[in-house]
Amino acid sequence: MATIFSKIVAGEIPSYKVAEDEQFYAFLDINPLAKGHTLVIPKREVDYFFDLTDEEIAAMQVFAKKVAAGIKKAFPCIKVGQAVLGLEVPHAHIHLVPMQSERDMLFTNQKLKLTQEEFEDIAKRINEFL
Ligand code: 5GP
Repeated sequence: MATIFSKIVAGEIPSYKVAEDEQFYAFLDINPLAKGHTLVIPKREVDYFFDLTDEEIAAMQVFAKKVAAGIKKAFPCIKVGQAVLGLEVPHAHIHLVPMQSERDMLFTNQKLKLTQEEFEDIAKRINEFL
C-alpha cells in the first residue's frame, strides 16, 4: 500500500509544494515547528532513511541544500536545521526547520496552527527564492 507521502507525490492527497525534480519532492510539514518547516522526500518509497542508496542520499542532500537556501532567504533565521526522525510516517524524509535557537528543533514543541492561505503564502515565498 502506498504511503501517505507517495499519495502526496501522486497528487492524490494535496500538499503545499515547495520544489520537485525527477527524484525528490519538497512540501510544507502540515504541523510545522516554525514557518517554513519543510519535508524533503524521495519519490521512491523507502521507509528508513539509511536504507536509501548512497547515491540517493547524496542527491537528496544536494536537493535539500537548495531548498534550505530558499527557506533561509524566505524566512531569515540563524540557520536552517535538518533532522531525520521517521517515527510517524514510514517514508524517508528530511525535516528542514528555520532556527532562531536550538529550541526550535524540539519536536516536542507545540506545532503552529496555520490557515490554508498562510501555508500557500509560505510555499510560494520559498519557491520564489529557489
Ligand atoms: P516523523 O515521521 O519524522 O516523526 O514525522 C512525520 C512528519 O510528517 C510530522 O512532522 C507530520 O506533521 C508530517 N505529516 C504527517 N502527515 C502529513 C501529511 O499528510 N501532510 C503533510 N504535509 N505533512 C504530514
